[in-house]
Amino acid sequence: MEQALKEIINFCQASGCAYLEQEPMAAHTSLKIGGPVELFVRPDRVQQAAGLLQKAKELQVPILFIGKGSNLLAPDEGLKGIALCFDERAAKPVLIGENEIECPAGASLSALCIFAQRHGLSGLEFAYGIPGSVGGAVYMNAGAYGGEMKDVVKEAVYLDENGKAHRLDTGALAFGYRKSCFSAGMGGLICSARFQLQKGDPQEILARMEELMERRKSKQPLEYPSAGSTFKRPEGAFAAALIDECGLKGRRVGGAMVSEKHAGFLINYDRATCKDMLGLIGLVQREVLEKTGFRLECEVRIL
Ligand SMILES: Cc1cc2nc3c(=O)[nH]c(=O)nc-3n(C[C@H](O)[C@H](O)[C@H](O)COP(=O)(O)OP(=O)(O)OC[C@H]3O[C@@H](n4cnc5c(N)ncnc54)[C@H](O)[C@@H]3O)c2cc1C
Repeated sequence: MEQALKEIINFCQASGCAYLEQEPMAAHTSLKIGGPVELFVRPDRVQQAAGLLQKAKELQVPILFIGKGSNLLAPDEGLKGIALCFDERAAKPVLIGENEIECPAGASLSALCIFAQRHGLSGLEFAYGIPGSVGGAVYMNAGAYGGEMKDVVKEAVYLDENGKAHRLDTGALAFGYRKSCFSAGMGGLICSARFQLQKGDPQEILARMEELMERRKSKQPLEYPSAGSTFKRPEGAFAAALIDECGLKGRRVGGAMVSEKHAGFLINYDRATCKDMLGLIGLVQREVLEKTGFRLECEVRIL
């Protein structure tokens, strides 16, 4: 593996791709948890990413794609291989025609929402405040306040493990509740997405975005590191309500705690480890199942 990683570092140097060795995942996850990944690479072009995928495949080095790490729980012992994250600074949305936007996967979702608002395009208001990247949002079919990515994504471009590009339309993206064809096992590095929006009044769009952001601030424990809602909504109930009903608000395992403000958020209250967080997730799942009969499934991706 060591030799293979050296070859990948050589490739990064030759292609001008930024990289870091033994980079703590805690620095790249909103939970602020996770030991070092052997090699963290930050391509700023799709071509660079394609070369990295080819190299990783040829050398049989595992490669993990990450966006803003706002839905990830990374292990304390760290990760073997490569974590690839597009450089956000190179990711600029572009207006296409009257009401479409092409956006690189590395852009932040909120930056895309602001771009749409400034161009008087409505449809993305729901996504303002979801703290992920465009790639992560497509992967997860992120959603809030009645909207989800599936409503606005017209198509996406991804690279397969050989670095070959493919374009998929909404149907082929197979969006479902917090899932897409990518999360359903197809894999692939999402490189960009095309959004179809409607003309709207910029002031009205802004007002709606601000209103939704205020709701987030008042209901969510944004002052603590978290990955948002830890669990998916079970059929016929709400995870937060079930957890609250079981009296679990404030319950702790080590430095991980069920938020007092929003029971659906398991927060890094005080230097929590991955082990603490997994312990708390397990405890909540067991108590909720015993007391209510509902089985809570994790929304956060456990690496
Ligand atoms: C405070 C807070 C509030 C939140 N509120 C919401 C909410 O309202 N609604 C909601 O849906 N989510 C919410 N989330 C969760 C999270 O923001 C979303 O799931 C988001 O879409 C994850 O994007 P990301 O870029 O951070 O992805 P990451 O967490 O980095 O990755 C998530 C998954 O996507 C994959 N992935 C990321 N980028 C790519 C890529 N380019 N190609 C292929 N795979 C990729 C990763 O491998 C991983 O499996 C919240 C999180 C926090 C911390």
